[in-house]
Amino acid sequence: MSTIPEFEQFELTPEPMSEPKSGVRTALVIGGGIAGPVVATALHRVGIRATVCETRPAPHDGIGGSLALAPNGMAALGLIGVDDAVRALATPARRTIMSIDSRTQELPTLRDVEPLQIVGRGDLHRVLRERALAAGVRFEYGKKLLSVSDRPGGVTARFADGAEAGADILIGADGIHSTVRKLIDPEAPSADYTGLLGLQGYVEPGSDLDFEPDVMTFAFGRNAYYLYWKQADGRLTWGANLPSKKYLSLKEAQAIPAQDWLRRLRETYAPDTPGRLLAERTSADNLDVVGGIHIMPPVPRWYRGRMVLVGDAVHAPSNSTGQGASLAIESALQLARCLRDRPDAESAFAAYEHLRRERVERITKRGARTNSAKTPGPVARKLMHLTMPLFFRLMNFDKVMGWEQRYRIDWDAPVA
Ligand SMILES: Cc1cc2nc3c(=O)[nH]c(=O)nc-3n(C[C@H](O)[C@H](O)[C@H](O)COP(=O)(O)OP(=O)(O)OC[C@H]3O[C@@H](n4cnc5c(N)ncnc54)[C@H](O)[C@@H]3O)c2cc1C
Repeated sequence: MSTIPEFEQFELTPEPMSEPKSGVRTALVIGGGIAGPVVATALHRVGIRATVCETRPAPHDGIGGSLALAPNGMAALGLIGVDDAVRALATPARRTIMSIDSRTQELPTLRDVEPLQIVGRGDLHRVLRERALAAGVRFEYGKKLLSVSDRPGGVTARFADGAEAGADILIGADGIHSTVRKLIDPEAPSADYTGLLGLQGYVEPGSDLDFEPDVMTFAFGRNAYYLYWKQADGRLTWGANLPSKKYLSLKEAQAIPAQDWLRRLRETYAPDTPGRLLAERTSADNLDVVGGIHIMPPVPRWYRGRMVLVGDAVHAPSNSTGQGASLAIESALQLARCLRDRPDAESAFAAYEHLRRERVERITKRGARTNSAKTPGPVARKLMHLTMPLFFRLMNFDKVMGWEQRYRIDWDAPVA
């Protein structure tokens, strides 16, 4: 088995930075998606040198799709100085609308927080990677983690290409199908399938199809839920959630020809406005296939020894919450704070879990409720149609969403 010499060098010569109280000086971060680069950047701020090991062969800035960052996620990005870079690339959703059949209802918003910021996933990856590189983080591509063993005072990671690397701790930021989760606890649950398949499409606006800028609409179509908005570049973007008993992984879904997906989208959204036009006008080149959408049940063990989880690997609340990436960013920062202030790695991991578990599980529960409401039967649908305006008039939006979106991390406060 070969060893990557640079990894050993980085392990032996940690940069002289501030001294974290945990005594941890080096970290291997598995996964270069969203949580990985953020935790690595935050670790550098507290004096821990991090290397991000990503299974993909190269940076995945070309990855399709968009996601909405909530105000709490944007505030957390501000702590590593990338919020403005993200805002500059994003489309704000200043108003959100729910529509069912022909009836629409504007949703309440919190007045004291910024709007959702919708950003291309590839753009977000690029900004986070560039920020991490500027902080001194190293990225290694084509590094698929297979196993980890303990060694005195640290861990040794083994990768599919035969390489090995060592560090004081290992952080699993390796997403919903996390390998590190199972290495921490072989009995750990796997992600649940929500019963929905995800697709995203883009179309050019036309005289008979255009949307107001800065508005995101959540639409309960007759056969399936979808959402749509106008991007800053003028393109109309929509996301489809197709109910399907059959689960398809990303790979399986992408193996199905785009024309077959387009046929299915056109059949599903034929009764809906503007769903029908969106489906008809989306071309194979402008379709991103996501496959089965997941939600993560509570994970009993967030850490073991010198390994710990962050992001979707430990708390994926499903796309219905619009919080997955924001929670991943928050957790990444809180983990770094704990490693800065607690006396050793294990007590830092315990403090981190204590700070995070309740919040992420509560938001995941909301996601599960929303997922089941996305496919109402005919009776529930009729009821929704009738009661929607009253429901939103009576709903205490501030109470339901305020605690989620106003969450702020006090970076300078010591972790007790
Ligand atoms: C259709 C859809 C829409 C969504 N919309 C939103 C939204 O609007 N707002 C929002 O906040 N969230 C949204 N989410 C959720 C959001 O995408 C995730 O919460 C977020 O990507 C989590 O980031 P992460 O870094 O934890 O995981 P990921 O982004 O999945 O990154 C994990 C990384 O780990 C790598 N990896 C995996 N295994 C290994 C291994 N063994 N070795 C090395 N590397 C490995 C992967 O290649 C990947 O790069 C959506 C999700 C879906 C599916």
